[in-house]
Amino acid sequence: MSTAPETTIFATMTALAQETGAINLGQGFPDEDGPPEVVEAAVAALRSGSANQYAPLAGVPALVDAVRDHQRRRYGLEPEDVQVTFGATEALAAAMLGLLRPGDEVVALEPVYDSYAAIATMAGATLRRVALHPPRWRLDADELRAAVGPRTRVLLLNSPHNPTGRVLDRGELEAVAGVCREHDLVAVTDEVYEHLVFDGEHVPLATLDGMAERTLAISSVGKTYSFTGWKVGWCSGPAELVAAVRGAKQFLSFSGGTPLQHAAAAALALGDEVPARLVEQLRARRDRLAAGLHEAGFGVLPCEGTYFLTADAAPLGHDDARELCLRLPREAGVVAIPVAAFVADPAGETRALLRFAFCKREPVLAEAVERLAAWAGR
Ligand code: PMP
Ligand code: GLN
Repeated sequence: MSTAPETTIFATMTALAQETGAINLGQGFPDEDGPPEVVEAAVAALRSGSANQYAPLAGVPALVDAVRDHQRRRYGLEPEDVQVTFGATEALAAAMLGLLRPGDEVVALEPVYDSYAAIATMAGATLRRVALHPPRWRLDADELRAAVGPRTRVLLLNSPHNPTGRVLDRGELEAVAGVCREHDLVAVTDEVYEHLVFDGEHVPLATLDGMAERTLAISSVGKTYSFTGWKVGWCSGPAELVAAVRGAKQFLSFSGGTPLQHAAAAALALGDEVPARLVEQLRARRDRLAAGLHEAGFGVLPCEGTYFLTADAAPLGHDDARELCLRLPREAGVVAIPVAAFVADPAGETRALLRFAFCKREPVLAEAVERLAAWAGR
């Protein structure tokens, strides 16, 4: 990149929330900690006298084993190798740097999570976008095929999808898998919301026919266990793909966060109960926010998973969500993120859409919707 990239929309909007004292439904992070026993595992590791130095490059063995075990137990997958990273963010960056060559193309769903275009650029590659169209955010197989060309090397799939809350169904995933097999693409799957599904089911792409051998699966401890600030992530899959990540990652950060890696292993060892409870909680919060936004006069789009709900400000007479999101903190006391921040053409079909995070305590959401209703004059 020849010029410094802009600050991410998330950091910008969180700064605006801090400046104005508005309720922050922008950047996606919970306002409650994850399980106390996981915090205790971190404290114990910090105090153990043997977990405060560099971790092995691949990650601490307990976490590497826990990730393998998770993939096997939940999905029946047997990854050849695992690499621990500083959040999914580093896994994504290292994957692009390790797998792409200058001039290659990478295909991703639009709206596209903000780091994807940046890391494709850092790798000298070009991002090709396949639109999920509002309001249903379904993937059109023909549009997907049209985005793939002779230079495409990687298909970067995010489902459950940020910012739309869409969870791709098996039919859509079969289409993705078909394109990967036909064009001999590597699939990189960003599955950080794998456990946060309220309707339908998360099907990892690697579980589809012929996909385990070409899929690098990425996830992290942040969303599943409500520790977004810990930045412990991982990828797993075929040895060759994991080696490509490791090769890049060793020169990005080498290895560290050792005590938190031990704690992440303890989190994964808690099994499925913790995310299952979180899903129940988040489903109720999604419904609360959806009802409140609807009452305030927004159009509410469907959401099947993640932390996020998208809403349409057009029924309230606002066509430019970017401009609206800059005004809302002061006018309404609420921060949201414009969906247009995730697309190439901000004047297109997402221009009036806002993303609201509902990973907040119920009274916070209640206050936010009350403020929005008052602002909308309802
Ligand atoms: N991918 C998506 C789709 C995300 O929403 C996020 C947000 N945290 C990340 C990756 C980054 O995950 P981490 O915090 O583990 O780096
Ligand atoms: N994933 C979070 C979100 O979408 C933000 C993470 C970040 O700030 N980069 O809101």
